[in-house]
Amino acid sequence: MSFDVVVVGAGPVGLCFVRSLAGSGLRIALVERQDEASLRAPLDDGREIAITHHSRRLLIELGLWSRLSEEELSALRDAKVLNGDDHDGLFFSHEEAGKSLMGWLLPNHAIRRAAYAAAAELPEVRIVTGVSVTTVRNGSDGADVVLDNGEILRAQLVVAADSRFSSLRREAGIAAGMHDFGKVMLVCKMRHERVHDQTAWEWFAFGQTLALLPLHDAHTSSVVVTLPPQQMQALLALDDAALGVEMAARFQQRMGAMNVTGPRCAYPLVGVYARHFVADRFAVIGDAAVGMHPVTAHGFNFGLLGQETLSRKLRAARAASEPIWNPQLLQSYEREHRRATRPLYLATQLLAKLYTDDRRPARALRKLALDGSACLGPFKRMVMSGLTGDRDGSQSPMTRIRSLLQRMRPA
Ligand SMILES: Cc1cc2nc3c(=O)[nH]c(=O)nc-3n(C[C@H](O)[C@H](O)[C@H](O)COP(=O)(O)OP(=O)(O)OC[C@H]3O[C@@H](n4cnc5c(N)ncnc54)[C@H](O)[C@@H]3O)c2cc1C
Repeated sequence: MSFDVVVVGAGPVGLCFVRSLAGSGLRIALVERQDEASLRAPLDDGREIAITHHSRRLLIELGLWSRLSEEELSALRDAKVLNGDDHDGLFFSHEEAGKSLMGWLLPNHAIRRAAYAAAAELPEVRIVTGVSVTTVRNGSDGADVVLDNGEILRAQLVVAADSRFSSLRREAGIAAGMHDFGKVMLVCKMRHERVHDQTAWEWFAFGQTLALLPLHDAHTSSVVVTLPPQQMQALLALDDAALGVEMAARFQQRMGAMNVTGPRCAYPLVGVYARHFVADRFAVIGDAAVGMHPVTAHGFNFGLLGQETLSRKLRAARAASEPIWNPQLLQSYEREHRRATRPLYLATQLLAKLYTDDRRPARALRKLALDGSACLGPFKRMVMSGLTGDRDGSQSPMTRIRSLLQRMRPA
């Protein structure tokens, strides 16, 4: 069968991309190795995705936001960053930013469910599930996408949204810079004795990084802990009751008693940045292009931004009856998305290393950065006006906090 665009990977970004092309007149196929039931009702994978104001606008336009229940939309009002044994840390208030909220937290499985429902209702999209793409063969008048059931889909353009470990990216000859942080991140929903006040925590404690992401219920948060793999194995071996006690101790009882209420999901931390985002009749989007370290909560926000950039260019080409695989068009997507993501990707890599390094110089630098920020009231207020993501919608609140800390770094 023949299509204008074949998208590989029905993760949140591949699904949003397909939805973005709705009504463009392009014939689209979306291929996903998971079965249809897993897309229609995805399992809770523990991730709570911090969403900027700009991303929220995109999710509304794509028709996803209205498909989320009230309990799935958690308001992120304020944030605090703690270092070492600090008690109060640096507080970022929504009032200083002149906003009612800094952002929102949405469960990843709810985003995927809503995105699948929005894509599945499009008549111009054929969704092929339970099938993997094994290879892509380029010819002079199109690309053949070969599926593991033997079927071949002919495409004018292939778009890979097949994760940060994208096999199609490699097959297209695109190299990627990868950094394995040698750490594992555990996410788990927990109920705690004290209320969270809709305040997110980032706590760069010694030997571990902790985060608390406030959910809809005032006593429930997504708790995040980052540790070296062996220590993580020991933590994962605990039963639910013991894990609750252990996490309350790691949080120094600041939230009171804690109890596990959701699945525990562990993610190895690897940052990936593709050397190119395009090749002949080929483009990568989502994590396949830019796979961020989750500490700055930015992977999906960048994925949304990139798919929007590419779909806008494809729509314009289609409206002008120009080929959607035009190399200049694809390169302009690469340039625009690289400009939007590269500086923050590099800053995130740097800061993730600094904030998980417990050697003396790194500790001192972190303390300096936080103390300096706390003292500079006018400067802090100025930066706060940008924290909500309206001035530059591509940045999440947490990324802006990191940017602030980076600016405070002594010369
Ligand atoms: C713990 C954690 C917390 C995070 N928090 C945030 C946050 O707060 N804010 C934020 O913006 N981002 C966050 N992220 C990042 C975000 O989850 C990712 O950026 C996003 O899920 C990437 O989506 P994707 O569609 O590009 O890729 P994926 O979700 O990896 O989807 C890829 C899809 O491709 C399919 N596939 C792969 N190969 C093939 C093939 N050959 N054939 C067919 N199908 C294939 C896979 O089955 C999969 O469904 C977080 C990530 C983690 C791990």
